[in-house]
Amino acid sequence: MIQAPRGTFDILPESAQKRKLVEAEADRILGAAGYRRIETPTFEATELFARGVGEATDIVQKEMYTFDDGAGRSLTLRPEGTAPVCRAYLEHGMRKLAQPVKLWYLSSFFRAEAPQRGRYRQFWQVGAEAIGSEAPETDAELIVLLADLLEAVGVRKTRLRLSSLGTPASRAEYREELKAFLHEHEDELAEDVRTRIDLNPMRAFDSGDPGTKAVMRDAPKLLDRLDPDDAEHFARVQALLDDAGLRYELDPALVRGLDYYTRTVFEFSSEELGAQSGVGGGGRYDGLIELLDGPSTPASGWAAGVERMLLAARELPPAPEFVDLFVALAKQDGSRIAFELALEARRAGLQAQLELAGRSLKGQLKHADRIGARYVAIIGENGVATLKDMQSGEQHDTGVRDVIPEILRAERMR
Ligand code: ATP
Ligand code: MG
Repeated sequence: MIQAPRGTFDILPESAQKRKLVEAEADRILGAAGYRRIETPTFEATELFARGVGEATDIVQKEMYTFDDGAGRSLTLRPEGTAPVCRAYLEHGMRKLAQPVKLWYLSSFFRAEAPQRGRYRQFWQVGAEAIGSEAPETDAELIVLLADLLEAVGVRKTRLRLSSLGTPASRAEYREELKAFLHEHEDELAEDVRTRIDLNPMRAFDSGDPGTKAVMRDAPKLLDRLDPDDAEHFARVQALLDDAGLRYELDPALVRGLDYYTRTVFEFSSEELGAQSGVGGGGRYDGLIELLDGPSTPASGWAAGVERMLLAARELPPAPEFVDLFVALAKQDGSRIAFELALEARRAGLQAQLELAGRSLKGQLKHADRIGARYVAIIGENGVATLKDMQSGEQHDTGVRDVIPEILRAERMR
């Protein structure tokens, strides 16, 4: 039997319902702050991610699904949403609009990773981006919005870590200092860290290796090397979060997977998740639009994994099924009348279903009960139907034509 590819999953109706809640809450919470929905293509030019995510990142080095389109162009299934949104911002001249331009998305993304709980090859993210503002208020607003969304969806035991990466210049200087430090301690580092000292020294903070962790405790911290402007920006973000009553921990070792972050970075995690504890995160990426050949444009945003949000959320009770009307047949030859009655009921605004499986009358009534039908109309002979109220058990004969008006009248009276 053919199965869904490794690392992918079907969204069955029961889980579709929970996802709808995430979407509705995102729409409500982000919409109230002026974010508007955007959807970009499922695949993009590979170049967009190579440049916009960064050659040195795990994503570009080993997680992208890249293919040739048959005409010599290299395309890639989107592994993340920020670079595509920035591409769209430039392509549609959105810098002529009032700034910042606030956009949100809920889409599927693709990464070639080893599948495990909370880590898939196709997964969904809800994300928000504010392009065209360097105000610390933008960063704080985005962080509070993600906190509100996680709360609304019921994500438990969350923890927020916060840091600042400074600007490219101070970061470059710090990088050299960190590289020199790491080279001094090469013998004590894990091999994958050692081989990438020059390519991506910041990743050493991410390592789970005990030897590397011991070394990194004494490593120079970027937070202590920020320019005065960056330090002030970061202090302001913190003050705004304090005012909002949001709790966070400063984590000087917080490094986001993407290369383009500047200044504020943050991540929400949940203890409910075990190893894949990251629920969502983001930060400021003032250099990205320029990397994509646009004008220098400050921007900030985040993305959160829908599956991880749901894994970390308390179980919702399943919504009870409900149908206003089930049209049953006393004899199979009433099926044309039943079909038309169900159609008319739907056009009148009722939820209506009809018998489609050739059950006995007893079987039909049992089925109507199971799907939560409020009324059952049993089509009899000569334009007569028996209308049964499934709540009271009361039933009476009436004209087929009178079934819908009677239900509507009864519902109005209730
Ligand atoms: P991780 O450290 O777990 O690999 P990441 O840093 O790669 O996460 P981001 O690129 O920041 O994650 O993506 C934002 C969010 O998207 C994550 O916090 C997580 O909830 C979700 N996410 C990322 N990769 C996956 C995946 N392969 N499967 C499911 N969700 C994912
Ligand atoms: Mg990852």
